[in-house]
Amino acid sequence: MGAKQSRRRLEDEERDQMDESCDEIHLDGSGTDRSGSATASLISFSDSDAAVEALKDACKTGNVKQVESLIRSGINVNHKYVIGLTPLHFAAIHGQIAVAKLLRGAGADPMAETTDEDRLSPLRIAESEMNQELFDAVADDPPAKYQFQRRLIGPFIMTLFLLSNIAFWFFLILQYDAFDGATWCFPWSLVFAILFWVNLILVNLLDPGTVEDEDVEYIADLRALSKDEIEVFPVKNVTENERFTLHETGETFIWCRNCKFWKPQGISHCFECRRCFTRMDHHCFAVGNCIAVRNHRFFVIMMLSGMTAWTVAVISIFLELLPYNTSEDWWPVGANEVQLYLAAGWVATSSITILGVVLPFACFHTSALICNFTTKTCFGKRGLGKNGLQINDFTQMKEVHCMALQCRDPPDTCSESGGGSIRDLTMPEGRVP
Ligand SMILES: [Zn+2]
Ligand SMILES: [Zn+2]
Repeated sequence: MGAKQSRRRLEDEERDQMDESCDEIHLDGSGTDRSGSATASLISFSDSDAAVEALKDACKTGNVKQVESLIRSGINVNHKYVIGLTPLHFAAIHGQIAVAKLLRGAGADPMAETTDEDRLSPLRIAESEMNQELFDAVADDPPAKYQFQRRLIGPFIMTLFLLSNIAFWFFLILQYDAFDGATWCFPWSLVFAILFWVNLILVNLLDPGTVEDEDVEYIADLRALSKDEIEVFPVKNVTENERFTLHETGETFIWCRNCKFWKPQGISHCFECRRCFTRMDHHCFAVGNCIAVRNHRFFVIMMLSGMTAWTVAVISIFLELLPYNTSEDWWPVGANEVQLYLAAGWVATSSITILGVVLPFACFHTSALICNFTTKTCFGKRGLGKNGLQINDFTQMKEVHCMALQCRDPPDTCSESGGGSIRDLTMPEGRVP
């Protein structure tokens, strides 16, 4: 049975069920309001029969206010009605785009299947409607909650970590005369610590390299090539993204359902930032931003300077510990020995972290700026490409090191990704059954 017929049958089934149950629907829980236009304030409970029925009605009629109010009251947006239908199924069947977006934002599952033999999901229904906007509302991942906080929490923790290390170093040299000689490192560490912090702010504030329409519009021409020049890989299920390969160059282009364009090699979508970036490396929660073509260089400077500041401070204290090389200096533990243990503990944990984590990470990213690889190409499905690992050519060097800077958009505009002008490509041939 085709998706369209199945949808019609679902509607009938759901109507029958509604006829049977409508006598029991009491929107305010007391049986007084039968008008179907109950105001949101009347529903003050969640997941009672009346509330879930009210949610169903609101989804069908597109009553956004009612749905909003019910979601606020904590209703289960994945409630299963007859044959496993969910509120999102109703929104999709009745083409309620705004409601579908609301439900998705509240965690509604687009893949929830009905329990009958057709096993229809809201996504499948939205797809069969051939309505791009509805499909997007059901398919697109909703914006992450607390975007602003998610952006700041990483840099805040990093700053706290930096300050606590500086404070501990000061504690050692001010509290114990034994470490007085370590003060030589202060100006050096301070310069690199400031460099670290400035670059942390830059990486957080800069646009990582958002892909603009004009960067990818040319692909429409490639898509128009004849069948023997390109090979299209059809999708096996609706959550997959379609791709095509040019026979001549072997280059593969993958459809980005969220940004509505074909991604060439090197462009990847970040589900946290909700957009595609050029030469994307990874999304870094520690800096609260993606690392891509525009801010990768500052990310590397940040790591190298942070590592240098920390290493210099650790060496300064390590040198002060060297004269204490007999067991009498360390045992039995008295007031004087505690200072040595504190300092040695800090030197040891810092050294292990620097050598085991920070140094390999910094080396990897420094090499990534020099050679043509990123974390994505190293560990991702697409791999390094046909050229393998090699030193960047002049154009690539220029792109990675000299690309013009720009601030990134404020969080509230992040959900609207670019690429709208080539929407005609959103449902390519063969995409919809
Ligand atoms: Zn994208
Ligand atoms: Zn990101």
